[in-house]
Amino acid sequence: MAEPRSCKAPVRAYISLGSNLGDGPAHLAEARRWVAALPGVTVAAASSLYRTEPQGRKDQPWFVNQVLALDCGDPCADALLSALLGIEDAMGRVRDPVDRFGPRLIDLDVLLFGDEVRTEPRLTLPHPRLTERAFVLVPLREIAPDLMLPSGQCVQDLARAVPHRVQGDRIFQ
Ligand code: ADP
Ligand code: MG
Repeated sequence: MAEPRSCKAPVRAYISLGSNLGDGPAHLAEARRWVAALPGVTVAAASSLYRTEPQGRKDQPWFVNQVLALDCGDPCADALLSALLGIEDAMGRVRDPVDRFGPRLIDLDVLLFGDEVRTEPRLTLPHPRLTERAFVLVPLREIAPDLMLPSGQCVQDLARAVPHRVQGDRIFQ
């Protein structure tokens, strides 16, 4: 029997993937497989992998970062965040509450969920540090050069406003 289909258009979301513990590219590949297997989620685009200088705490390994565009059949941003946090747990991420910005096996963040704007500790949209981070803005600009944030700012201008240098696949900030 045919599956009932939602008549609502999917919501375009953007998520970031990051890792700086162990084999970063392998962790990102595993995370992409989990994301692609989420019910109702289609991976619409994937940026290149970038090697990025750590922010905040500099005395830790460089990161591997990537941004994915997703089409989400479920219009609930909380459900997407829960799924991403579940993937982090399943992959064995251990959170250190004392060292919040320390090394991590995998970090999956929701950057944007359609035009949704909200400020809650569990889920802030757009991601609260999106506009400060070259490691997010550069891959986001790669896959969505014409993207506008709900604020009306465009990703190109935001990337230009953050002092950084891209050299090959490396991002210095
Ligand atoms: P980081 O800020 O470095 O990603 P964590 O991955 O430890 O740190 O996330 C801490 C908390 O941030 C999560 O438990 C989550 O509930 C919350 N959070 C708030 N907004 C977002 C968002 N847009 N994407 C992901 N997590 C978010
Ligand atoms: Mg996170």
